[in-house]
Amino acid sequence: MWVMALQCTVCSVELDSAKALDFSGVGKLCGSCFVDRAGTPKKIKKEDLDRLKREVEGETAGLLPQETLLQIIEEGYDRLVKESGSFDDEVTRMAIEVQRLSGLAVAKKVMEVLGALGKLVEEQEEEVRRVLRKLGRMGG
Ligand SMILES: [Zn+2]
Repeated sequence: MWVMALQCTVCSVELDSAKALDFSGVGKLCGSCFVDRAGTPKKIKKEDLDRLKREVEGETAGLLPQETLLQIIEEGYDRLVKESGSFDDEVTRMAIEVQRLSGLAVAKKVMEVLGALGKLVEEQEEEVRRVLRKLGRMGG
């Protein structure tokens, strides 16, 4: 039986059917034409990379992300430098802000734990109901 050779729609190179990449509207492509079509990845600027790194670090940090704490300190320092605040007021403001953030962070963690426990309890209840149904059928 004669089988028509599979070809790349763009460069006509013969394709192994297992390696051909099929796209609707484009047809079958070889790996190199696929890469060309996908385009070269945009070069990420260093500042964007740094920003992304900080964002990831911020989200994976402990209870209080370093980024947030630094921001609180920088803002307080900024006000002091501009002489729009007193040192004592700024220290108090920072302490209140850290307390507020800690409270929020702890509450968020507690909610997460309660959510996970709730799910576990639901699963256990469902298991008990299943056993009860089974026992009910056995008695009848
Ligand atoms: Zn090709």
